[in-house]
Amino acid sequence: MFMTTQLTNLHIETLAVHAGFHIDPQTKSLSQPIHMATTFEHPADSALNDGYLYQRYTNPTQEQLEIALGLLEGGGEALFFATGLAAAAAMLHTLKPGDRVILADDTYFAIRKLFVDEGGRMGLRCELVDLTDHSAVQTALMQPAALVWMETPSNPLIKVTDVEYVAKLAKAAGAKSVVDATFATPILLKPLALGVDVVLHSTTKYLSGHSDNMGGSLITRDAALRARLFELRKLLGGTASPFAAWLTLRGIRTLPCRLAWHCDSAEKIAAFLASHMGVEKTHYPGLPSHAGHEIAARQMQRFGGMLSLQVKGDRTRAILVASRLRLFTNATSLGSTESLVEHRQSVEGPTSTTPDNLLRLSVGLEHVDDLIADLAQALAA
Ligand SMILES: *Cc1c(COP(=O)(O)O)cnc(C)c1O
Repeated sequence: MFMTTQLTNLHIETLAVHAGFHIDPQTKSLSQPIHMATTFEHPADSALNDGYLYQRYTNPTQEQLEIALGLLEGGGEALFFATGLAAAAAMLHTLKPGDRVILADDTYFAIRKLFVDEGGRMGLRCELVDLTDHSAVQTALMQPAALVWMETPSNPLIKVTDVEYVAKLAKAAGAKSVVDATFATPILLKPLALGVDVVLHSTTKYLSGHSDNMGGSLITRDAALRARLFELRKLLGGTASPFAAWLTLRGIRTLPCRLAWHCDSAEKIAAFLASHMGVEKTHYPGLPSHAGHEIAARQMQRFGGMLSLQVKGDRTRAILVASRLRLFTNATSLGSTESLVEHRQSVEGPTSTTPDNLLRLSVGLEHVDDLIADLAQALAA
């Protein structure tokens, strides 16, 4: 097996191919066996056990993936979960009644509900703050807090948070900081190097990459926090199937190549939309007009494959444009081979704060000229 120490000073593309890779000693197979075992033999006195015990605690296939996730993040300890939400729920349970939590105001809808509604029921005091507004961040973090939750680029407004800045203020306020870096992936943003305590990825998205596999991960260099999260995964039962771990690791092998293509196409589509008469506003951090462009250029490798547009007109017009698209499928989720479009307000429901003329695009791996032609016909008067 490749020792993790042999994988230093390599480019991310090389790491993505080799991290967690080893030749199976029994069969010499290059593709990794999937260990579906739920239980493992242990000594008669199981207190002496130094290996695996039960799949829900940890298992060999999941551990292989976790090695890769930690290396991609630039050296951290990863935990894999059944979904991104299961990972977020484990973070929620590290908190106690009365704890103050600062969440980005446009945190992913289900995570916002998890903390505000379910966390609220547990006695958490959650506050939604625009983390791109530094004076609002300063005001919020003048008082102590237990957790600061960032998401960048955010969903669905593609807002960019200055991760290093917020992490520093969070630390001074005594809070652990989390970045949900699902849109950025470990390729485009390295939150741990910017001083953040925990990185979350919904691996359902770009890491798996094919709209056929769910998962989530938390990566941290804080050993005590990792031990607590490990215990919580065990007790909350958010462990993923080994098959899901295996598919995620397979997705990671091609992540840098896929992502480069996603970014190339998204940049061209953003430029097309930004100059289109039928578009009121294009939200993409690669556009110099984007409020977070300079921060994104500083902290990210590229600008990602996600963008949103506000059509000129109302909700009805936005839904008409979405219904006319042929290559972009109306579906939720993102980060897959096929391009997707979604009218976010209608999927988020009555408490949504998303503008009613906004469509979110996940730019897939089709040829960009075909995608632009599709958008052009859908946006025609
Ligand atoms: C999808 C998503 C999640 C939730 O992940 P699941 O795997 O669906 O549970 C969290 N954050 C962001 C930014 C997402 O896009």
